[in-house]
Amino acid sequence: MIIRIENIADYVDQTITIQGWIYAKTGKGKLHFIQLRDGTGIAQCVVFQKEVSEEVFDVTQQLTQESSVLLTGTVRKDERAPGVPGGYEVGVTDIQVIQSVNEYPITPKEHGVEFLLDRRHLWIRSSRQWAILRIRACIMRSIREWLDENGFLEMTTPVITPAAVEGTSTLFEIDYFDKTAYLCQTGQLYNEANIAAFGKVYAFGPTFRAEKSKTRRHLTEFWMVEPEIAYCDLVQLLEIEEQFVSHIVQSCLQKCSAELALLGRDISMLSNIKPPFPRITYDNAIERLIDLKNETDDPEQKSLIDIEWGDDFGAPHETALTKMFDKPVFVTHYPTQVKAFYMPVLENRPEVCYSADLLAPEGYGEIIGGSERIHDHDTLVNRIKEHDLPIETYDWYLDLRKYGSVPHSGFGLGIERTVSWICGIEHIRETSPYPRMINRDNP
Ligand code: ATP
Ligand code: MG
Repeated sequence: MIIRIENIADYVDQTITIQGWIYAKTGKGKLHFIQLRDGTGIAQCVVFQKEVSEEVFDVTQQLTQESSVLLTGTVRKDERAPGVPGGYEVGVTDIQVIQSVNEYPITPKEHGVEFLLDRRHLWIRSSRQWAILRIRACIMRSIREWLDENGFLEMTTPVITPAAVEGTSTLFEIDYFDKTAYLCQTGQLYNEANIAAFGKVYAFGPTFRAEKSKTRRHLTEFWMVEPEIAYCDLVQLLEIEEQFVSHIVQSCLQKCSAELALLGRDISMLSNIKPPFPRITYDNAIERLIDLKNETDDPEQKSLIDIEWGDDFGAPHETALTKMFDKPVFVTHYPTQVKAFYMPVLENRPEVCYSADLLAPEGYGEIIGGSERIHDHDTLVNRIKEHDLPIETYDWYLDLRKYGSVPHSGFGLGIERTVSWICGIEHIRETSPYPRMINRDNP
């Protein structure tokens, strides 16, 4: 019977076959240990000379890393056996080699990250990358789960778009039959149209930004989920966000405990991620950063977190702020000047707007950007002009403010940033199966 390693616990004392690849092999003399992976897990398989034919023992001795095999044996429970899930091993009776591999390029020794990224198509087989990408899939699944169960309708939004929504500086231009078009940076404007048809919607897909700086948190192609809600203000929006993010984290803890353990992730902080999340205003965040700067002796740290009211946060500011909380923290009411044209300003304080970012704890920083959207036609026209955006491309968008305009809000959550945080990894490049960055578009 062919089984998947993830279900190995159901087959104790039974003879089974696994369709897999040789992840590692150790041992000598009469006893060999094979770590076999099949995409769903890793199983320790034991070949004992006495228990197999001479031919099978020969095959075992010649097995090389990443050779593909059909391996047959009996499942035994053994607390000490490593693997994912651990605690079971296979007493091998037969091995059939499908392809024998000659010198797999990625060996257990340390490789540089560029070497590995050049071989990303192979690197994804390594257990750490495997765990990260399984958690990514779990995050994506739990996102759809929560939104679908909470009355949101998934609507696709176009990747090829005519308008530069928030300026052209990070847009990828494409030649669209002798006209210029752009790869989408967000589906938000279309979502704002969709809510008038469907109430609560979300777009979920790839997003493109020509990020020219090299950072640990920016890719040029990343995935974003963008919920948009009619009849919703900032207070209601944050309640949705904290429920949503808590669901994602709790799903991963529940369904990916083996993967998190494989990554060595300390999950004590993650277990704590449940609503409500703390909320601070941008004003308060600035005060906290100034206080922190005054208390800090280290001149380098002082200059890193140096900030004045009106500046946007950089990574060091966000990192410092998140370390003040043990849950994700909302920073609300950012300066109007650092945010997009469609965000409404406070009536009595036009220098700040109804916006909120969600910063992930443990130093990770922004994972969500969200806001209310201006719903008054003339106010929106004025803002488009103030931002020097081409008003003619917003024709259809302005229609939405003429035909049944309502207060509404929405947000965008970056998948790869969320994966980084939940997996506890340093650099965003490991969170995408095939990352795209300023100096990388291959494989
Ligand atoms: P940042 O200031 O970090 O560049 P942003 O303000 O440009 O972020 P938004 O436009 O609000 O980000 O996008 C929504 C979300 O998309 C962000 O909170 C983040 O999770 C994600 N995101 C934005 N840019 C990138 C990128 N280049 N790579 C990966 N994720 C990104
Ligand atoms: Mg940005």
